[in-house]
This record gives sequence, C-alpha cells and structure tokens, in this order.
Amino acid sequence: MSTTVENLQSKLISYRRELHENPELGFKEYETTKRIRQWLEDAGITILDYPLETGLVAEIKGDQDGPTIALRADIDALPILEQSGVEFSSKNEGIMHACGHDFHTSSMIGAAILLQSRRSEIKGTVRIIFQPAEEIAQGAVYVAERGVLEGVSAIFGMHNKPELPVGTIGVRSGSLMASVDRFELDIIGVGGHAGIPNDAIDPIVIASQIVSAFQSIVSRNMNPFHNIVVSVTKLQAGNTWNVIPEKAELEGTVRTFQEETREVIGERMRALAEGIAESFGARAEFRWYPYLPVVDNDDRFAEIAKEAAEVAGYKAVEAEQVPAGEDFAFYQTKIPGFFVWMGVDGPKAWHHPEFKLKEEALEVAANYFTELSILALNKPELLK
Ligand SMILES: [Zn+2]
Ligand SMILES: [Zn+2]
Repeated sequence: MSTTVENLQSKLISYRRELHENPELGFKEYETTKRIRQWLEDAGITILDYPLETGLVAEIKGDQDGPTIALRADIDALPILEQSGVEFSSKNEGIMHACGHDFHTSSMIGAAILLQSRRSEIKGTVRIIFQPAEEIAQGAVYVAERGVLEGVSAIFGMHNKPELPVGTIGVRSGSLMASVDRFELDIIGVGGHAGIPNDAIDPIVIASQIVSAFQSIVSRNMNPFHNIVVSVTKLQAGNTWNVIPEKAELEGTVRTFQEETREVIGERMRALAEGIAESFGARAEFRWYPYLPVVDNDDRFAEIAKEAAEVAGYKAVEAEQVPAGEDFAFYQTKIPGFFVWMGVDGPKAWHHPEFKLKEEALEVAANYFTELSILALNKPELLK
C-alpha cells in the first residue's frame, strides 16, 4: 500500500457511500457535483472554471513544469431499482449506482488528494475530469466540447471489474471495449389481402430474408479473427391476421472491436437490405447511427500502466475485452489514452440490481492513478 494520506481509505468509503445513497441520472448530477466540489475544496484542490451544468474539472499542478495529463471518472447512475441490500442503498427510488461510477468518482477524489500531497514529485499538471452522463454516452462529448481537453497530452481512466480480485488491474493494448452503433431499417412493400398475396408485396417475408442475410456479414464478409456482433432487436409489422401490412420496421445494433470495420458493416447492411428489397419489388430505407467508438488503448502507455501497478504494490494482468461500450472512447479519438480494469471482486456484473463491490479497491485505485500520473509525467517522450 503506498497511501501516504492519513485516513484516506475511511474518507473514500464515506464519500462512496454518500454518492451511492444519492445516485443521479446523466446530466442530472447536480447534488453529486456539489458533493465532489465540496470534498475537493476540503482537500484544498483547485477546481477549474468550465461552463459545465453538471460534472467538474479539478487540477493539481506539480512543483515542476511539464505537460498536462488527464484522469477521468464518470459520475452518473442508472435507472435501476436497487436490490443490493447494502445499508447505504439508494434513497432515490428507481435510480442506482449499478455500474460503480460512485466508486470511480470517490477513487479519483482519492487520487486527487494523494497527488496534491505529492506535488513535489509531479513534473507537470494532472487534470481530473469528473464527467457526467456516461451511461447515455453523451458526457464525454459534452465536456470535450467545453474545452476540458485543451492542452491535455494524454488521458487515463478505468472501469471497475467485478470479475477481478481487489488489487488486480487489467491492462491491454489496443481495443478493450466495443464500438456501439445502431441501425434502423424500414421495408416498404404493398399492403393487401392475406388471401391474395400476389396483389401485395409482403414486407414481412422480405424482412425475414434480410434478417438472415445480415448474419452472413459476420461469417462471410469479415475477418474471422475479428469479434463482431450484428443483432436485430426489433421487427415490427402488421396488426392483424388477415392483412398483409405495407411496412416492416427493424432496429438493432452492431458491435465491433475494430474501428475500420464499423463503416464497412453499415454499408454491407445497406447493400443487402436495398438489394433484397428491390429484388422483391419493395423499397428499403436504411439508417445508420454511429454511437460509440472502440475503446482503443494506445500502446505507448502499456508499460507504465503495468509499472504503476507494481510501484503501488498491486498486480497487473492481461485485460479481457468486453463487448460493451464506454464513452471514454470519444476522448481517445481526440488524444491518446489508456483505460484499465480495476478489480473490485463483486458478486454481480455491471447494471445488475444486486451490483456490489469491495471498498478496499477504493484505495487501490487512488494509489494506482497517483503512481500512473507521476510515471506518465516523468516520461515526457510518451506525451508528444
Ligand atoms: Zn454502465
Ligand atoms: Zn460504467
């Protein structure tokens, strides 16, 4: 344990429990922001003046000049009714910190406090972004648009990982979390009598063929070593038994770990949908909504991401990829970044109403990001 601030762990536990009891949804984190501000001010940490409705940015300037790096914690909760049974369960019914962003927030406050106490070792500046609205994938864009990345050379972040033991940090170069895109597809045929289908153009038959054909994209068009998911999650058409409807509406999602495959998949889907619809004399309207890029870890930080774990007395392991999305990916499209898993040894996965984590991990994360920041700023050649 490399903590040097007295009673840090008990302080972080109380912060985390207070946040857990008072969860707020994306862009509604007003009380959360007030609390973070208060706790940072109590520790004498500088808060920067950005025009943020919710969320906030703090900064620790080292005694020596150098580049600026950023640490990021997300602060929002989910619309889930808590069933964890912990004594500090949510007081806001139907809202829960079921993704552990209360853990991320309090850990990064811990890192801020530790960094503040080690300013003499810091060769540059550490900016800490407490970001709103991760769960609705809008917060990273929101804060970036307000200039918080200006002058920042690299960004680091984490997600808690219930599957990893406390004191274990999952590190991986390249893609860690998937891109998330959404599509909508309308098949417009010709409605008619169910008994006289030859006078109609049945969009349900056409939609069925398209759903099957979509599955061939992964098996026939994509590199077999790439992990890709194409899921049709909605297929709506018709409202009774004896009428062929005019239209079928489909919706779904695509997940990949390769940024370059995203567009290709969208274009293949469009081509299949339009081609199949046309061959039946119908029309397809395909709409593609890019949602989240791949969380793509910059190789140059892999070594210090492991080294920070060792210096702090913890263990780095190879991180497993997860086909969920994270809006940290947006920062990585602007500046190089690295995202790690922080072991919290919980019984349930993210977004589960019984989600829990081991609070010993608060201090681990605080120590880890303190060491990582100091190491990164000690290697300015990585920050060019
Ligand atoms: Zn989540
Ligand atoms: Zn999360």
